[in-house]
Amino acid sequence: MKIGIVGGGQLARMMVLAGYSLGHEFLILDPNERASAGQVAPLILGNFGDPERLSALAERVDVVTFDLENVPAEVLRQVTAQRLYPPVDALETCQDRLNEKTLFDKLGIGVAGYRAVNELDELFTAVNELGLPLVLKTRRLGYDGRGQRVLRESADIEPAWQALRGVPLLAEQFVPFDAEVSIIGVRSDQGEIRTYPLTLNEHRQGILRTSVAPAPVDTALEAVACEQLERVMTHFDYVGVLTIEYFVKDGRLLANEMAPRVHNSGHWTIEGAVTSQFENHLRAVAGLPLGSVSVRRPSAMINFIGTMPAPQEILGISGAHLHDYGKSARQGRKLGHCTVTGVNDAERDERLAQVLALVSDQE
Ligand code: AMP
Repeated sequence: MKIGIVGGGQLARMMVLAGYSLGHEFLILDPNERASAGQVAPLILGNFGDPERLSALAERVDVVTFDLENVPAEVLRQVTAQRLYPPVDALETCQDRLNEKTLFDKLGIGVAGYRAVNELDELFTAVNELGLPLVLKTRRLGYDGRGQRVLRESADIEPAWQALRGVPLLAEQFVPFDAEVSIIGVRSDQGEIRTYPLTLNEHRQGILRTSVAPAPVDTALEAVACEQLERVMTHFDYVGVLTIEYFVKDGRLLANEMAPRVHNSGHWTIEGAVTSQFENHLRAVAGLPLGSVSVRRPSAMINFIGTMPAPQEILGISGAHLHDYGKSARQGRKLGHCTVTGVNDAERDERLAQVLALVSDQE
């Protein structure tokens, strides 16, 4: 099958690498001629919002999917493709934090208190009603902690407003969380759902730094997350991989956001699960049977942000697998990652510590 991917980042690259073994062919749409996925598959140069370029992609493939959220939903809706998954409605909801939170509410999924903020007055009202600390976020186009300000005291209100004003905003209660976890699942076009175990995530400056799976948390939490993910997937008649990120606070899950795509916190599944999230996404969008999501070995993933470590050092660690996205170095940019597995949690943790010691300069 020929699969078109809108967006040529590392997620698309890993989809391509997973899909070749299934005999799939790929075509990528990305504005950057050095795009990570464009290095491993043919590339159409063009903007994601360009209807002509999107149609050129759709005409040449059997199914269209995407590796990022910032594709204009209204343009994607006009694309006549044989198959276009995940559903554009899910993408559109994920593009706006307010719509996302409203849907979580509607589906009975717990979230931190939030208010839409379009005027300074509304920000003061949100502070009065929700209390401080608060996080002020842009509703759209925020990722990896960009477009966010934490308000800890009244003196922070005006500067945060000045920094973010001009676009629709969302104020939400700051959650002094005990941990952050994510659930990743896949749904086929037949409605079959399979869910990977919860992953424990650690962020630095809003960017994912490490993931550990299966997360060493109460299994009851996993059951709740699985059930909530299923609720969202069923709501959208979803096809493909979907991710929900949560805060864990006092033994309870509070949904932060969701992503209608393969996710950074699922990279460990390449080596750590029987079928990776990338292969399962492709199986789903191509209408193929889903693969097992069972864990092969306890795993951990470490992102390389801003600089890549020397490959010989990473590969010198037993059980370590290196993924280089072929991107040029830039501060704050995800350039690659490493997954370590172990026969048990202790061995995995020891190997994780070895990798972290090598990249301590990225702190
Ligand atoms: P986001 O872009 O919403 O995923 O936020 C990036 C990271 O910022 C999250 O993974 C958290 O570590 C942190 N963060 C975002 N929102 C909140 C919140 N309401 N309370 C505490 N931390 C937050």
